[in-house]
Amino acid sequence: MKNITNPTISDWAKICKRPVFPAEDLEDKVKNILELVQQKGDTALKELSLKFDKAVVEELKVSEAEIEASKKQVSEELKVAISVAAKNIRSFHEAQQLTETIVETMPGIQCWRKSVAIENVGLYIPGGSAPLFSTVLMLGIPALIAGCKQIVLCTPPDKDGNIKPAVLYTANFLGITQIFKVGGAQAIAALAYGTETVPKVDKIFGPGNQFVTKAKELVQKNGIAIDLPAGPSEVLVIADSTADADFVASDLLSQAEHGPDSQVVLLSDSSEFVEKVKLAVDEQLRVLPRADIAAKALENSFSVIFNSIGECVEFSNRYAPEHLILAIENAQEFADKIQNAGSVFIGNYSCESAGDYASGSNHTLPTNGYARSYSGVSLDSFVKKITFQNISRLGLQNIGRTVEVMAGAEQLLAHRNAVSIRLKKIQDEK
Ligand code: NAD
Repeated sequence: MKNITNPTISDWAKICKRPVFPAEDLEDKVKNILELVQQKGDTALKELSLKFDKAVVEELKVSEAEIEASKKQVSEELKVAISVAAKNIRSFHEAQQLTETIVETMPGIQCWRKSVAIENVGLYIPGGSAPLFSTVLMLGIPALIAGCKQIVLCTPPDKDGNIKPAVLYTANFLGITQIFKVGGAQAIAALAYGTETVPKVDKIFGPGNQFVTKAKELVQKNGIAIDLPAGPSEVLVIADSTADADFVASDLLSQAEHGPDSQVVLLSDSSEFVEKVKLAVDEQLRVLPRADIAAKALENSFSVIFNSIGECVEFSNRYAPEHLILAIENAQEFADKIQNAGSVFIGNYSCESAGDYASGSNHTLPTNGYARSYSGVSLDSFVKKITFQNISRLGLQNIGRTVEVMAGAEQLLAHRNAVSIRLKKIQDEK
């Protein structure tokens, strides 16, 4: 993890650039996969699973027997943990349901909005290096609260052609039964275009590696909605000398272990504290099973020492991290100054892992600086907001002349006529 001290503002943009290791010809490779799936459907999915996951997949759809078996393969302790997390995630997302008010903009003119579920949604659950059954909760629960009619889940098979039991158990726990053994760009293609067995959906959700993210970007151009660009995970920690170096090190490593392309950043006003954190990182890294992955991620990571915590916050707003931890005195006060971040963790005890799994907030968040303009997944991601209006005879009399004048000025005379014809009839009836 390299260290930078007091960089000038002109260098900030360069420092904020995320490490990119695009596979050679990423776009062409993903385009080929999308085309193959469009042409050959299920056959292509099976061929690509063999090629990329080394898995022979006989049946793409997970059977009831496999779901049933998963109930015995998941420990009782994990089942309890999943139900506690689910309860918290449900509470937080249920509270996002809003009742829209009917607004009378002028006498006789009522306008309102209604949230209506997106009917068919596809959930991508990453499974390459770690089966993220927690993502099943994060995407499945808001989809169910929203009332999506069809929820289709895709996740990569392991080398034996199986899905990890925890993923199956969690999906079944929520009541999601359309589960398909397919990962990577081919899963996104299947959800976008449909195949003989995988249903086509209207919107695709879920994080994934660069193949998944590129595929989502490409299918979006063909009219399929996507949640957000959720690429390699990242965390930025702002810590002062009141923080606990061991805690901060553990937070940095919890992101670094996601993947070699993850990035972790530490900002502080104390060089002594940064040194303490680095020692703690080395110590904790030694005993991590995913130490190799975390060590690679640390190579793309950095710490920055600024003169003040205020400057750290300013830099963080420029970086726009997916996760931001404020391990500083008066953390709440600084939290109010956060302009760009996916999710913020306040104080020494708000570790990111809690939000990743169980506190209630969603862990599917914008990476790579997209937090400047995107929100993480929430209940809103699973609904459309339809506007309604009801204009009475009186309402049209009130608004009519305004519309006629504006339509006339834009020379859209058919628009103007749609009002004039009605006003004339009202006039004639008098
Ligand atoms: P994954 O499921 O995204 O990808 C695995 C699939 O990639 C495989 O099934 C395979 O089909 C495909 N693939 C692998 N090599 C390929 C190649 N050479 N050519 C074409 N396809 C290939 O799982 P993963 O790889 O472990 O990545 C998960 C990612 O999700 C990580 O980068 C992690 O940081 C990120 N993540 C992000 C968030 C977020 O909210 N932003 C949350 C969780 C995870």
